[in-house]
Amino acid sequence: MSSSHVLVLNCGSSSLKFAIIDIESGAEVLCGLAECLAEQHPLIKYKYDGAKQTITLNEGDAHQIAIARLVELVKHLGLDEQLIAVGHRVVHGGEHFTHSVLIDDNVLQAIKQTSTLAPLHNPANLLGIEAAKTAFSTLPQVAVFDTAFHQTMKPQAFLYALPYSLYKNHGIRRYGFHGTSHYYVSTQAHQILGLDKNNSRIVSAHLGNGCSVTAIKNGQSVDTSMGLTPLEGLMMGTRSGDIDPGIFAFLVNQLKYSPTQVDLLLNKQSGLLGISELSNDCRTIEEAATNGHEQAKLALDIFCYRLAKQIAAFAVPLAGLDALIFTGGIGENSDVIRSNVVSQLEFLGLQLDNNKNLAARFGQQGVITSSNSPCAIVIPTNEEWVIATDSAAIAKEQ
Ligand code: AMP
Repeated sequence: MSSSHVLVLNCGSSSLKFAIIDIESGAEVLCGLAECLAEQHPLIKYKYDGAKQTITLNEGDAHQIAIARLVELVKHLGLDEQLIAVGHRVVHGGEHFTHSVLIDDNVLQAIKQTSTLAPLHNPANLLGIEAAKTAFSTLPQVAVFDTAFHQTMKPQAFLYALPYSLYKNHGIRRYGFHGTSHYYVSTQAHQILGLDKNNSRIVSAHLGNGCSVTAIKNGQSVDTSMGLTPLEGLMMGTRSGDIDPGIFAFLVNQLKYSPTQVDLLLNKQSGLLGISELSNDCRTIEEAATNGHEQAKLALDIFCYRLAKQIAAFAVPLAGLDALIFTGGIGENSDVIRSNVVSQLEFLGLQLDNNKNLAARFGQQGVITSSNSPCAIVIPTNEEWVIATDSAAIAKEQ
């Protein structure tokens, strides 16, 4: 049997998502999540051969221990012999990385340097890389960046109207995120809809706990809603998205917030949670709205209005629209949000098909509009697949 498995690691600040993907069959051989790392009750949950299992860790155990236990598990299951590479999701690649790369000392150094732009994420990603390098010292380690897909944006799309020196000296510009997801679903859309890669105009809406929209022309990102950080753009689960930057000074000067408190407010206490004062979970909000909860209804209205406005705005850089993609937990499952957004975009030619919209749930892909062009389509995202195939391709070159 030829080896064709890739270990995919997505190391967050207190969690570690992992999967082993067979790139020949596309099967997810093992998948799981280590959570509450460095907290009171850390544990690893995983699924192998159809069965769900749990490994309990000791209080305070962090990434290194979790990865060591994962390695034990992989070896115990005999999966290590099949591995050809380890692929790491890295959140911020700055301007250094326009595509996935083999990790060497220079790459490690560049990821470290970029940590100032993503102080919560990149250091956690680095922990995963260091631990995996030790555990699988003979395997190629590959970095796949959330920002890389958006490096095709032009200055008119990525520069803020701030003093140019802030960009030149400190890298303050728009980078965009969810690039792996936007790349995957747009590539799928080209295939499914038979779009010409040299002449296509796609808007992709990744709607999960974090939400972003990307304008994709001829297969390349030309604009995206997130910026220097994943806070810019759409309203999200707990993030505000765009606000008047003057609110920052108001909160600090008038209401005596510290910068850390403002950061917390905008990242953790706003969005669906902030408006509804109920939950950041879209399912809870939808249920409450159905039962007449006024602030839940308001949260959904704002979410959909702002999303529709952003999608329509991206018809400008695209000079039209061939396809609108919905993906992420909300995009893949919420017929309510899709229906609301598509009906606000009828003027662009989109016509919702109610039955198709109701059918596209729980991992089902499908076109949800009746008109052929432009069309709206639901495509479940698969970032792990992109990480696995990129890593395998780079490993083969070695
Ligand atoms: P993600 O970050 O991609 O896992 O997406 C998480 C978001 O998807 C949460 O807001 C969930 O409430 C939302 N979600 C998952 N399933 C559904 C569903 N059936 N209906 C509405 N929202 C859902």
